Amino acid sequence: MDSGSQFAEHQTSLRGKEQQLHNNSALWIKDPLSILADAAERGVVIKEGRIAELVPAGRAPTISDTAIFEAGDHVVLPGLINTHHHFFQTLTRAAPAALDRELFPWLQALYPIWAGLTPEALELAATVAMSELLLSGCATSTDQCMHFIDEQNDRLRARLHFLDQLT
Ligand SMILES: [Zn+2]
Repeated sequence: MDSGSQFAEHQTSLRGKEQQLHNNSALWIKDPLSILADAAERGVVIKEGRIAELVPAGRAPTISDTAIFEAGDHVVLPGLINTHHHFFQTLTRAAPAALDRELFPWLQALYPIWAGLTPEALELAATVAMSELLLSGCATSTDQCMHFIDEQNDRLRARLHFLDQLT
């Protein structure tokens, strides 16, 4: 199975769990391959969007009626935090004129392109950047956006709405 099929299957599985979660009050992320938390060898219970319980080795959750996500093929770790990003640069990372250039020639090659970015381009860039961040485990990021366009506030709201849809 290729990685795209695996990803689609994983997403379907997660959507099923999401539906189960709506039917139950909590989700037990059970028996992860590894977890970055003490005394949580059997996983964590998520309730109302928060970690409600750590489940230690040899134990089961004290919270009853949990949906279960079998996490034996998964590593559980906190969402990563990216403190510095330029979402708009996702659109020009492969611009031929800028490839393999030192900083200032790179900037000189890209600024004329960036000067022409539209609100639609910024929205697309944010979509790509946030999707990549989420797929790599990043749950929080900043966007050092240096381009301000009149419609930017509306676009920013659109980005936040999109991010809300992804999470
Ligand atoms: Zn920077």
